[in-house]
Amino acid sequence: MKAGQKSVGSNGKQNALFPMEVMYVTQGPGDDYSHGKSKAVDYTYRTNEGKVNRAPYYAPSDCHVIHIGTAGDGVVWASDAEVNYPGGTGYLVYMVWHDNDAPSFRIGETRKQGDLLGHTGTAGNVSGDHLHMEIYTGSAFDKSKAINNWEGLFINDTQIVNDYGFPWVTTDDTTGNINGSCPKGDGTFQLNDKVNAKVRSFEDAMKKECEAQGIPEAVVPLLALMMVESGGEGGDPMQSSESQGWAMNTIKDPMMSIHYGVKHFKESLETSKQYNVDIWTTFQQYNYGIGYAKYIGANGGKNTIPLAKAYSRDVVAPSLGNTSGIMVPYVNEISIALGETMRYVNGGNFLYAFMIQYYTTGDGSINACGNGTTEGDKEKDIINDYIKQLLSDQVNGWKY
Ligand SMILES: [Zn+2]
Repeated sequence: MKAGQKSVGSNGKQNALFPMEVMYVTQGPGDDYSHGKSKAVDYTYRTNEGKVNRAPYYAPSDCHVIHIGTAGDGVVWASDAEVNYPGGTGYLVYMVWHDNDAPSFRIGETRKQGDLLGHTGTAGNVSGDHLHMEIYTGSAFDKSKAINNWEGLFINDTQIVNDYGFPWVTTDDTTGNINGSCPKGDGTFQLNDKVNAKVRSFEDAMKKECEAQGIPEAVVPLLALMMVESGGEGGDPMQSSESQGWAMNTIKDPMMSIHYGVKHFKESLETSKQYNVDIWTTFQQYNYGIGYAKYIGANGGKNTIPLAKAYSRDVVAPSLGNTSGIMVPYVNEISIALGETMRYVNGGNFLYAFMIQYYTTGDGSINACGNGTTEGDKEKDIINDYIKQLLSDQVNGWKY
């Protein structure tokens, strides 16, 4: 797993993930060197570039400390709730050993999935810096319930360097869901690897501005939006000049662009709440201008390609002079995947909300956290509901 990664199965329970970004097994379970009859596995952080000592590892799921090693060399965590794992669904206990910081942990301390759980280390009886891990089923530390690491952890988004030939699997192998990477439930709306460093460099500025305008939860969605608008380039990376009624790129200062971009997004959120529409409508409205939420509110409440396309043709394009539905080619990875490679001249971008999804799903695949264009896709609906809920508290709290 990666730092901060979330993974939830289609049953709404978290998928327990392998805790390191890199897998390099140095010792397996059994009766070899020091593992006796236990089902422990040892890991180091080693790639072609060499070994990293004190390498971070992350919480496989939401969890809390239930036991500290008496010699100050390890910590035992229990999942907060039932999780999906390759061998089934239920509570899991994660025993992690040799972190030099182990004595600083306290019983009851909690971590969310993807949070830093500790570092590989040399505390206790070791021959070198590593993580020793054991997995148990149940919610209490019970040695009789040991399962193998590969039976307890999915290896999604882990760089495999040396897996010792154990039968590791990803979530697709057992729970059949979307690669386990789609944030929802108590997770967060996340950026994926497609969001570039330039955009990420604006994170602090975005955070400051979102907090100032009372929508602190909108930082990540707005960074994704910046990625779509400009990739972080230029003096108006949020392309907010037009939202102020000015000509495109009138704004020359990225900070001013962010200020008006956040303001415009907040307006879009406000009207989304007013007309009880989904979050993807909020994004699409950022592109189209205020008015789209009302239209979607009157047509089912959910942004879909047919509705976005109709609004582009019937409202946006005519308002800018294209009254006869003239289309031009619009070809990129997303439009090809969605089978919509033409757009209306002066009609905005009717795939805008899907482009946001492209930069915010766990693995970047279109529709992994999509917006319900396919009937019966509960996964998508849950995401929509979650994000709506996430943002609605802010909306409710607004004074205007
Ligand atoms: Zn060990």
